[in-house]
Amino acid sequence: MTGQTDHFQLPPPGRRIYCNRTLNMRAIRAIGYDMDYTLVHYHVEPWERKAYHHLRGKLADLGLPAADLEFDPALVTRGLIIDAELGNLVKANRFGYVTRACHGTVPIEFDRQRAIYGRTLVYLSEARYAFLNTLFSLSEACMYAQLVDRLDERGVSGALGYADLHRLVRRGIDEAHLEGELKADITAAPDTYIESDPELVLALLDQREAGKRLMIITNSDWAYTDRMMTHALGPFLPAGMGWRDLFELVIVSARKPEFFTQRMPAFELATADGLLRPCPAGIKKPGVYVGGDAAQVEQYLGVAGEEILYVGDHIFVDVHVSKAVLRWRTALVLRELESEMAALEAFRPHQVELARMMEEKVRLEFAYSQARLQLQRRQNGYGPQVDAAPQKLRETMAELRARLVALDERIAPIARASGEILNRRWGLLMRAGNDKSHLARQVERYADIYTSRVSNFLYETPFTYLRAPRGSLPHDDAPALE
Ligand code: IMP
Ligand code: MG
Repeated sequence: MTGQTDHFQLPPPGRRIYCNRTLNMRAIRAIGYDMDYTLVHYHVEPWERKAYHHLRGKLADLGLPAADLEFDPALVTRGLIIDAELGNLVKANRFGYVTRACHGTVPIEFDRQRAIYGRTLVYLSEARYAFLNTLFSLSEACMYAQLVDRLDERGVSGALGYADLHRLVRRGIDEAHLEGELKADITAAPDTYIESDPELVLALLDQREAGKRLMIITNSDWAYTDRMMTHALGPFLPAGMGWRDLFELVIVSARKPEFFTQRMPAFELATADGLLRPCPAGIKKPGVYVGGDAAQVEQYLGVAGEEILYVGDHIFVDVHVSKAVLRWRTALVLRELESEMAALEAFRPHQVELARMMEEKVRLEFAYSQARLQLQRRQNGYGPQVDAAPQKLRETMAELRARLVALDERIAPIARASGEILNRRWGLLMRAGNDKSHLARQVERYADIYTSRVSNFLYETPFTYLRAPRGSLPHDDAPALE
């Protein structure tokens, strides 16, 4: 009996599905999956280190002083923003205010940061900014920051500026991903790079048997997709079943985001070794296709917009564009949510203590301001007067100030530690100080739901009604009148 009830239990917080916009899974008729970092999760450090090595070779060939650099996985996180105009990496809050910054790899102290960014709001549409949309962005951002340091130290080569450097790094990582060598390294040692999820196949089977029409829409090519899917899902499939049997459509080399916005020809994979057959009339039957576009998918399925859920890890390509252009329902896979929530949980006792001290601080500050105003009215002879001598008011103020100073000394180390949860430099992914981070804002705008991995659907079932919580507003906690 226990086997049957295992999934009745709520999963740990890091494995739940979180909802920004209410989503009735029963109303979803087709589910499209991205592959990389969505269906197939990678061990981030070895994957990104490998990508970094290929990038490093390319940049060294161009004469950049990269040859002795090493990938540092703690240097950057998803959701940060490269400011290629200034050679900086920044973290912004939901309004676009910069809350933390590094120049190259060197943290910028607060006053200087304010001088640089105090009047600048980050708008991701501006060419100077590059948002780190996915875990694939880590190698690129790490290399850029390290080379900014080198540019500053050595001037590198003549007139090369921070923006030029970013273009070179961007082009290098693009080439590394598109040329065969990096992918050949990955496919040669899949165990090193793929983090298999034994629950994934069952979650997909549940959806398929519940009548959902499953698809893959990936930018990876056929050979790589087949290799990764075989390795990631193969060991967990029922006897006699191949990974392709789970999916009605498999679309590779999809060229997202254009896949969602433009019309592009589709080719059917005619043989397993890659022979292609043009499909001038579009996608007409189940199978594996190279290219094509979202309009053809909707036409083939006879289903559009709100009845399609697309699940992916790239904040711009997978969820922003598919939602903005097609109004598909969207799910973001944010694997870091598991470590983020575990770190938050570990910090919870300190957070409670911090909140308690902040309440005390607010009370003391209020009392201090009141005493100060009373003194001002007393000295300037206007308004209602209190029955206390100016000297007494000054003493009260001095005492309150002393208590505030002592309290601040106790708050400071916990507040600092709170800003270092998860990553010492950058803190939590979804928070910027007390506010939501820019990443959190992107997630709430474009992802109807978000979760750490696809197999979390197992707990929620294909029949779940995911409800958005009542959004919070600053006046929600106003105390009731006595
Ligand atoms: P998807 O996430 O399944 O759509 O696949 C992502 C594909 O894009 C993978 O094959 C990646 O190697 C590739 N990719 C990731 N980042 C870049 C990039 O910056 N330039 C070009 N290709 C990339
Ligand atoms: Mg992906």
